[in-house]
Amino acid sequence: MIGNLFGFLSNDIGIDLGTANTLVFVKDRGIVLREPSVVARYKTSKKVCAVGSDAKKMLGRTPGTIEALRPMKDGVIADFEISEAMLRYFIEKVDKRKLVPPRVVIAVPSGITAVEKRAVKDSAIRAGAREVLLLGEPMAASIGAGLPIHEEYANMIVDIGGGTTEVAIISISGVSFQRSIRVGGDELDEAIIAYMKKAYGLLIGERTAEEIKFNVGSAAPIVNGEISMDVRGRDATAGLPVTKHITSQEIREEALKEVVTQIVDLVKNALDRCQPEHSADLIDRGIVLAGGGALIRGLDQVISDATGLTVIQAEDPLCCVANGTGKFLDLLGTLTRDQVDRLVTQ
Ligand code: ADP
Ligand code: MG
Repeated sequence: MIGNLFGFLSNDIGIDLGTANTLVFVKDRGIVLREPSVVARYKTSKKVCAVGSDAKKMLGRTPGTIEALRPMKDGVIADFEISEAMLRYFIEKVDKRKLVPPRVVIAVPSGITAVEKRAVKDSAIRAGAREVLLLGEPMAASIGAGLPIHEEYANMIVDIGGGTTEVAIISISGVSFQRSIRVGGDELDEAIIAYMKKAYGLLIGERTAEEIKFNVGSAAPIVNGEISMDVRGRDATAGLPVTKHITSQEIREEALKEVVTQIVDLVKNALDRCQPEHSADLIDRGIVLAGGGALIRGLDQVISDATGLTVIQAEDPLCCVANGTGKFLDLLGTLTRDQVDRLVTQ
């Protein structure tokens, strides 16, 4: 009853605090905000001057007095102050203040420490939350992907974000195994930058590298035929702008392969170490991929070939974690305290 009353008086919020993107879900409304997890601040005064999309535009081309930073880089909180500034900005942006402050569910990378969790909670409280619950990212992704988390059968989720890849086995509303590596979509971009320099003497920035990944990136041969594109950058020796023509095959084989192998190895490692009963369940259940990295062409195929298991891409991988926080907000009213304690990360 009290819960219903609060629901009527406040907007409960779910936040996916990702290394690349932050998404905000407002209960009964859905995802209302999606912006890059970037903060720009003045170098000397450390005063924040832009957050989200406005700050991302400054990455790599900031005037000398401003620096653009990613507070969640590598799946740990790189800087408490700028993470708080970012969280506050996003909460205030969506919280059209009703009578009661919102309850906030935040999905955090599972690798963050107790001190970092405390800092996230405190930041959200200072930003106006009345209560903060933290969900491990793999749990949030599993709920978002619609996996039957309450069943005793095991399910495996692999969430490939910008700075991290997390693998977890979920059963009976809990995480029974999890591992993460500080490798994700960002490393694919870095590998492309390194390849373009080595193969063509062409210097490109992060944004061009990401564009190459979107347009011609792949983990397995493209069955309908390999594709190609023109890439503009600066010639490393002459210093002049030039255009080079590249193919999906070379990007896959020469640039992306190593990072893709690390992701595949993480999954194989998890299968190797999980409980035998869970292994058996996964033969029926397969593996679900979430996060922006799940969108790389052919990654599902490569993981399937390496493990012999069925691999499915979650619906809308980029929104999976945020949708999970939203579904969790809906579930809260129906769960016992004990069930909530199992699901959240303390
Ligand atoms: P995080 O949870 O860490 O914020 P996301 O799940 O939002 O990360 O995924 C961001 C990553 O996904 C970035 O590295 C981005 O380049 C990559 N990405 C997004 N869309 C695609 C796509 N269509 N193909 C390949 N990579 C993609
Ligand atoms: Mg994520």
